[in-house]
Amino acid sequence: MVEQRKQGEVILAGAGPGDPDLLTVAVLREMSRADVILHDTLVSPEVLALAGPQARLIETGKTGFGPSMKQENISEMIIFFAQRGYRVLRLKSGDPGVFGRLGEELDALDAAGIAWRVLPGITAASAAAASLGQSLTERGRNRELRLITGHDAQGLAEQDWAALARPGAVAAIYMGKRAARFVQGRLMMHGAAPATPACVVENASRADQVIRAATLATLPQIAAEATGPAVILLGLAPRDARIALKEAAL
Ligand code: SAH
Repeated sequence: MVEQRKQGEVILAGAGPGDPDLLTVAVLREMSRADVILHDTLVSPEVLALAGPQARLIETGKTGFGPSMKQENISEMIIFFAQRGYRVLRLKSGDPGVFGRLGEELDALDAAGIAWRVLPGITAASAAAASLGQSLTERGRNRELRLITGHDAQGLAEQDWAALARPGAVAAIYMGKRAARFVQGRLMMHGAAPATPACVVENASRADQVIRAATLATLPQIAAEATGPAVILLGLAPRDARIALKEAAL
């Protein structure tokens, strides 16, 4: 039994894209202190290995399509442990505020009168762009960056395709593997060139990272090759042309 404390605050934190070196010092500190860590499936084993010996690790699922706990049950569990005085860390991959359903958990905590704090993390798009040697924004190329999801609760997600189809547009598509053909069709319908560069970065920042260079024309086939978590960077090619050539030859 851990020592019972007065009901404390719940920390909702981002574990980054997988490489433990990309954890923030604040999140690492909370991992070493937490009694209970409720984590998404995408939080890497290398990161989880940094939890303190006292920490009970509970996986809450959410691989995109695999089985996962219902959001209400996750929120209930966070509240259950917090109300019993445990130090609770809710750990999400990347940044908790990017496609992490953070708002729903904060609403549940507010409704239960439990204090909370959010610690940001490095989102997959940042890690993927870094691996390409590319900037997510660039003067003269794109004045905006969109983080979009391939699908939402309703199915394939509609977007502002006209804006995304403009030359130079850059977008990071999360959960986009199965939506790649839909995205391709919508963008071409809105006038995007088939030669528009795109990259599929799988397991960004991890030892098994794979960068696949594509164009809008080849995106569905290239995206289908990824088996792990992958983010599509629309409008970006690897800076290092050798990667593009090697991937094209595969
Ligand atoms: N909160 C997370 C995103 C969760 S949604 C973040 O900020 O990164 C899950 C999606 O994130 C996956 O389907 C995939 O598109 C992307 N993703 C998460 N980790 C990734 C990684 N290491 N490499 C590539 N994509 C990743």
